[in-house]
Amino acid sequence: MLKSCGKKLLLSLVGSMLTCFLVLVVDQQKGQVLSLGGGGAGLLLQPFEGSRGDAAGLRAALPSGQSHHDVRSFSAYFSKLARGKAEAAPAVGGGPEEGRAARPQLEDISPQDVFIAVKTTKKFHKSRLELLLDTWISRNKDMTFIFTDGEDEELKKRTGNVINTNCSAAHSRQALSCKMAVEYDKFIESGRKWFCHMDDDNYVNVRALIKLLSSYPHTQDIYIGKPSLDRPIQATERISENKMHPVHFWFATGGAGFCISRGLALKMSPWASGGHFMSTAEKIRLPDDCTIGYIIESVLGVKLIRSNLFHSHLENLHQVPKTEIHVQVTLSYGMFENKRNSIHIKGAFSVEEDPSRFRTVHCMLYPDTPWCPRSAVY
Ligand code: UDP
Ligand code: MN
Repeated sequence: MLKSCGKKLLLSLVGSMLTCFLVLVVDQQKGQVLSLGGGGAGLLLQPFEGSRGDAAGLRAALPSGQSHHDVRSFSAYFSKLARGKAEAAPAVGGGPEEGRAARPQLEDISPQDVFIAVKTTKKFHKSRLELLLDTWISRNKDMTFIFTDGEDEELKKRTGNVINTNCSAAHSRQALSCKMAVEYDKFIESGRKWFCHMDDDNYVNVRALIKLLSSYPHTQDIYIGKPSLDRPIQATERISENKMHPVHFWFATGGAGFCISRGLALKMSPWASGGHFMSTAEKIRLPDDCTIGYIIESVLGVKLIRSNLFHSHLENLHQVPKTEIHVQVTLSYGMFENKRNSIHIKGAFSVEEDPSRFRTVHCMLYPDTPWCPRSAVY
């Protein structure tokens, strides 16, 4: 009697252990699918009316039911992103990642080979553009082209390449795509080897940029920048009047800046030149930086090269190590989790005098600038 009871007990114990084991295995696999962001139903993107790919992606990445108005969700999402970066987790999916070690020089690239497009709007000419004109643009006027939406004689006096796109001054998806379309056409017209897009809250370290671009062949397909999401964006492309097709692709966030080789830019022409960029953006109903990623990854099948040398204010800029600031290609400033977000650097100016830290970085990189204090310690 006791013996058979013991046997039953042993059997049921083994049974429950097996069940537990099975549950654990299934759970683990589920977790993997989720962390790869394979696109569960809750991740499907709704038509987006905002301007920035990051915001679109943010909504795409949030579980269904959470809206972008839920500030806590934003905050939790950004913390997750920032943590991911701090832990230096290897990239999941996507294309190759540019390593930490310096890449050997492949081509001789001079400033005249690079076309830097800075997107701005009339209301930011004073508050944002002046800072860039005082700092990095002052050293690189021939390679920098300013794309704006209103006439400004003062601005034209300060720098040569000011292009009035005649696009609307709104922060809408269409208005920003309109500017990107003009940037693309002007780049093709220029005959230069590299196209780099920047926002007007980016500091560009041109020496580091040229060094990076020199290590890639401009005649081949190169798309380099930094995604702000930890998974590909899910979208739907309109194939015909009532036919939609799901797509997912990586894109470099416009707010961190990105570059495209001439070889690749020429291949983008059927979807990007003339009025085609606007119609491509309409086809997937996403902002300009996402549309660039869509054309390159989804249409042309070229992978984004991720670089940690590009920075937007969607990441925690305090995490850029002080000792590595001089090798970063782009920096930014803005808000992060409702706090001011800028790189952490001591030096020429106090935080009150230089909240973006761009003047301080500029004096570190070019100490011979007339307005830089001679005795600054970094
Ligand atoms: N911008 C624009 N038109 C506008 C508002 C903004 O062209 O009406 C540009 C702005 O100059 C900047 C970019 O869009 O280069 C992103 O704007 P912002 O930094 O204000 O927004 P976020 O980085 O949060 O998307
Ligand atoms: Mn910005």
